[in-house]
Amino acid sequence: MVYGLISDIHANLEALEAVLAELSGVDAFLCLGDIVGYGPDPEACLARVRGLRPLTCVVGNHDLAAVGDYDLNWFNPYARAAVRWTAERLSADDRAFLAALPDRAEVAGAALAHGSFPHAMEYVTDTLEARAALEAMPRDLGLIGHTHVAEAYRMRAGSRLCAQVPFHSGGEVKLEEGLRQLINPGSVGQPRDGNPLASFGRYDTEARRVEVCRAPYDVEAVQRKMRRAGLPAPLIERLSVGR
Ligand code: ZN
Repeated sequence: MVYGLISDIHANLEALEAVLAELSGVDAFLCLGDIVGYGPDPEACLARVRGLRPLTCVVGNHDLAAVGDYDLNWFNPYARAAVRWTAERLSADDRAFLAALPDRAEVAGAALAHGSFPHAMEYVTDTLEARAALEAMPRDLGLIGHTHVAEAYRMRAGSRLCAQVPFHSGGEVKLEEGLRQLINPGSVGQPRDGNPLASFGRYDTEARRVEVCRAPYDVEAVQRKMRRAGLPAPLIERLSVGR
């Protein structure tokens, strides 16, 4: 079974379509949250993700914020403005879909959460935070998003030494007995690891492998839509540089 890994789409339809074209042969999809927020196409991205079958999806902080279920004080002013813009555009049905998403899931030997374990909305940005998550996760493989940085962390059973593996230009990890691994496939719609290409992954349960890849998309088309929508300039500009 091959699962397509998508996370942090952030209402970027052009990036999502480019990634789904790359994932056309997969058997199922795992979405790690933040379908909406920041970008100009929340309804279209929700329709596209909801149409993926079979799909397991966990909720992100921006998804919760868009349905009024997350404290906006955690957001910077640009993110807050985008949350308000997004909330006005969601149908009752899309709101119900987002509100019903779980904050954790387990599929095919992998534990899924938007940000970390055991607290789904915390961030994993270094080996210290990763070690806590690796120790808390209920499976040897953890799949997370939230930071928009494609990377992996690994730790041997019985050891407290945690190693960080950057996937800035893609990469792959092998799953091994006795090795706990936390993998972030990066962000589809707003990468922040210095590479503006859309980031995504594939989890192959038979080959016991997770790979992370990048796909080009029409960044300028998205930026034009964001300008027309009146979304904050810093959110538009960052897409060009992947920061
Ligand atoms: Zn996000």
